[in-house]
Amino acid sequence: MYPFDISKASDTREALHAGSQGGRYIAGGTTLVDLIRENVERPETLVDITGLPLDEITVTGRGGLRIGALVTMAEAAAHRKVRTLYPVISQALELSASAQLRNMATIGGNIMQRTRCTYFRDVTAACNKRDPGSGCAAREGFNRTHAILGTSEDCVATHPSDVAVAFAALEASVHLLGQDGERRVPFSDFLLRPGSTPNREQAIRRGDLITAVEIPALPRPLTSGYLKVRDRQSYEFALTSAAVALHLRGGVIREAMVAAGGVGTVPWKLPAVEQHLIGERPSDALWPAAAERAADGARPLAHNGFKVELLKRTVERQLRTVGGTK
Ligand code: SF4
Repeated sequence: MYPFDISKASDTREALHAGSQGGRYIAGGTTLVDLIRENVERPETLVDITGLPLDEITVTGRGGLRIGALVTMAEAAAHRKVRTLYPVISQALELSASAQLRNMATIGGNIMQRTRCTYFRDVTAACNKRDPGSGCAAREGFNRTHAILGTSEDCVATHPSDVAVAFAALEASVHLLGQDGERRVPFSDFLLRPGSTPNREQAIRRGDLITAVEIPALPRPLTSGYLKVRDRQSYEFALTSAAVALHLRGGVIREAMVAAGGVGTVPWKLPAVEQHLIGERPSDALWPAAAERAADGARPLAHNGFKVELLKRTVERQLRTVGGTK
């Protein structure tokens, strides 16, 4: 470890001022403290934001749900409205990390968490995300867990969050508070594909504070769920995952919201799958036909070609589960 300053913000104004001076916000600390210990990150100033009033879950006037940035993963997963209205969110949270981590980690921190690419966390390896311009050790290295969608020459790391996949599927938005006031960023624009700047991961400005994630009002009834496929059934990141929400009326699928995790450099929305489902009646034949489009555009690496078929099967199984023709 190295010496750094830490202060506790007593209100959002104080936090924003410290953030604008280069302070790094810290709440649960379950990612950032690890990265500091491993010398991957070396912030000079930490700003403890755990005293800010951002820890509530509320139903919005528009009929959606607003989850405060400081709500813990465990609190969000257990909340009655989340469980009943958006089970895909509860399930994604409960399949993440460990119980101890879920009690500490916050929703804001979860969507800001950094990749689990082992080369990113090994400061002796070349990594454009950690050290821009140094190269990408994963491209020619052991890349079994890396991305097959949204990759670039400069980075092939996956985004590790499960709940972010559910947020992407449901077309959530992120509320940010900055020097110029509050603004809302669609979730699909919030997390950035690596391109030639993999070190830039979110559409945020210096000092921006995440205040909440908002789920829009969605047509009812809505059935939803999250499936995560991993090497072991506990405390492991996804090889593939699928977040699915379906709205049926008159026996016909009117709305389909589908996204995949473990395969993209960002949570991967699947519009081709969604389009295949809308207007159709659930049937045994429909699910594999729709899931066949899940890996459109995939570019597997030397060790992760298995993810193409695994992704299709993961999506098919979760469509079948949520759609009700098991
Ligand atoms: Fe770094 Fe991305 Fe390459 Fe991993 S995949 S080594 S995070 S540049």
